[in-house]
Amino acid sequence: MPVDAEVVIIGGGPVGSSFAAQTASYTTVVVEEHAEIGHPVQCTGLVHPRVVEMTQAQDTVLNEISGLRLTPPGGKSIEVRSNETKAMVIDRKRFDRQLSERAEAEGADILTGREFIGFKRDGKKVRIDLQGPKGHESILADLLVGADGYKSRVGRLAGLGPAKEFVRGIQADLAVRMEDQSMVEMLIGQKVAPGFFAWILPCGEFTRVGLGVSEGNGAPSSYLNALIKKRGLEGTERLRIMSGAIPVGPPKKTCTDNILIVGDAAAQTKPLSGGGLYTGLRSARWAAMTAVEALKEGDVSARRLSDYDVKWRADIGKEVDRGLLIRKVYVNLTDRKMDDVCRMLDRPDAKEVLSGGDIDYPSKIATPLLKTVPSLVKFSPQLIGSLIRREQR
Ligand SMILES: Cc1cc2nc3c(=O)[nH]c(=O)nc-3n(C[C@H](O)[C@H](O)[C@H](O)COP(=O)(O)OP(=O)(O)OC[C@H]3O[C@@H](n4cnc5c(N)ncnc54)[C@H](O)[C@@H]3O)c2cc1C
Repeated sequence: MPVDAEVVIIGGGPVGSSFAAQTASYTTVVVEEHAEIGHPVQCTGLVHPRVVEMTQAQDTVLNEISGLRLTPPGGKSIEVRSNETKAMVIDRKRFDRQLSERAEAEGADILTGREFIGFKRDGKKVRIDLQGPKGHESILADLLVGADGYKSRVGRLAGLGPAKEFVRGIQADLAVRMEDQSMVEMLIGQKVAPGFFAWILPCGEFTRVGLGVSEGNGAPSSYLNALIKKRGLEGTERLRIMSGAIPVGPPKKTCTDNILIVGDAAAQTKPLSGGGLYTGLRSARWAAMTAVEALKEGDVSARRLSDYDVKWRADIGKEVDRGLLIRKVYVNLTDRKMDDVCRMLDRPDAKEVLSGGDIDYPSKIATPLLKTVPSLVKFSPQLIGSLIRREQR
């Protein structure tokens, strides 16, 4: 157990580990509350192939997806297929472990079974308090990094955060093999997944059924049970159940003196899909780059670290902002309007636009779709105006 470190990262998830691998030329310690890295899993693991490439995690891939079936409340699905792999399903447990092992191989210390409790400022450093197997422990560090997920205690205690909104998610792995392994189904509607969407994802020998629900709509489990029943799968063995929350809408500030937050702790997720791996890992790069320079200069002040804030927002901020804007319209659509939208999209030219979509930049197809199906404008003339203004910036 080190008593001093240059960098202490709270959270041994993918973002914390990825950050650690990049700062490990300095004394870097990762603190994870669970005894095991990668457990419990709170993720569907659907990512663009570029995430697998940037993390060299090819051997964690469970399945490849090339098509989407969108099922509106009225039930008339539309299907969009592509000749290329649009997404991959990764095994999150293996993925998290690989990233952690890589950080360790680079020289970072990984401390599991220790919970971050709080911090105190100590001159130009921070004293970080942990609760471990032997009781209270503390580490004196130059930089404290909150990669501690959506509940981020680091963010809360440092006065950064929280996210603007939390979507509650739940999913079950069912012991059933889907006939078509190439299509993910996305279901929308107030009765299916109010304020978000549900998914049915083939993963080889099992099928992942899950959904998200925005706040104030009751327990996600009741929607999951209803969906499983509706699909006639209630008798199927449930191999695993997972639940968690997706933070949506980043806070105004993601750093202060000696401290920064990254990944879900900073709500660096895509507001339309809830995916946070790509955006979190990209932000971890900016965070680590800034941290390395700041440590080299011996200046970890809020002013110096704000370079990270500027860089991650310049990189993914536009997608996040556009996603938030579109989400605002989406959550106010009635079931009938969702059916209308799907009916309007059920034509070859619109499906071609949809098939060119990229799950890391879902908002990018909004403008081409509006050009192809101008009648969509009636669902929110204000949104169209804002999107066009943002596009021109
Ligand atoms: C139901 C669901 C489905 C999802 N599906 C997808 C998807 O398909 N694709 C996608 O890209 N994203 C998805 N996400 C989002 C994705 O899981 C997150 O964006 C991603 O895990 C963020 O990584 P992270 O390292 O920032 O945080 P996390 O993975 O949450 O890791 C944080 C770590 O910090 C630890 N920690 C927290 N507090 C403390 C403490 N006080 N002391 C010590 N350790 C602590 C936690 O135990 C955890 O290990 C989904 C999320 C949910 C809830």
